[in-house]
Amino acid sequence: MRTVYVNGDYVPEGEAKISVFDRGFLFADAVYEVTSVLDGMLVDFAGHCGRLRRSLGELNMTFDMSDDQLLDVHRRLVASNDLREGLVYLQVSRGAADRDFIFPPEGTPPTTVLFTQTKALIDNPLAERGQKIATVKDERWTRCDIKTVQLLYPSLAKMEARSKGADDAWMVRDGLVTEGSSNNAYIVTADGVIVTRDISNLILNGITRRAVLECARKLQMTVEERPFSVEEAHVAREAFSTSASGFVNPVVEIDGQPVGDGTVGPVARQLRDVYIAEMRKSAI
Ligand code: PMP
Repeated sequence: MRTVYVNGDYVPEGEAKISVFDRGFLFADAVYEVTSVLDGMLVDFAGHCGRLRRSLGELNMTFDMSDDQLLDVHRRLVASNDLREGLVYLQVSRGAADRDFIFPPEGTPPTTVLFTQTKALIDNPLAERGQKIATVKDERWTRCDIKTVQLLYPSLAKMEARSKGADDAWMVRDGLVTEGSSNNAYIVTADGVIVTRDISNLILNGITRRAVLECARKLQMTVEERPFSVEEAHVAREAFSTSASGFVNPVVEIDGQPVGDGTVGPVARQLRDVYIAEMRKSAI
């Protein structure tokens, strides 16, 4: 049985309790982060802390744990659960109060929950065979830059993709790909340029995205941060996605059509290897 963290306490998962009045539960009024763990160490922890602060700020949520305290909780959970490879999930909600659309009074303590999950991140069969993607309409709200637990639409989108025989969905707004259900989306054009949507309110600013783009630039690859259309994706030489728990994941098919020759491409493969090597060096 795992040990989880709830509001200051480390408890067996079966004994962890949250109020039924928690605003995360009633209103999806909560933000979260997922930090991957490699060799028992946290990958890009500072990046995840920074984005957590931004999400909290955008929603005017109070939260009084410091980055050092958060790091301590992450490390204690990794140690007590003997986690070598997987992820740490962190969620902060606006706390519990009588159900009301008006925010609870100032001083209502947030609810903070963390747990670990084991996951094979390096030996990921999807990275070996490449993902099949189905494009679906992006019907999310327009503050996708805030990492809220409002994940019903991405979940529906992924289910729709699954029902079409694909592994994941890429969401499309006005004919342009925004991002994957839980990852950022990339194509490599016929002339070898890596294209990924520029940062805006319509996508999540991926922590992995930033690190992978840095790797790409170091490798002298050309990167363009701009929207790309579904048509452009269909004729791309390569495609891939990035996320904290997926790293760099190649895409070999979009809407039933092969991407390039339909096999994992060299750019995605190299970026995955280089990203993993860099993160192994910098994990804390
Ligand atoms: N976009 C969305 C919608 C996501 O849910 C995620 C994963 N949290 C990402 C992009 C990738 O972000 P990160 O690299 O920080 O995991």
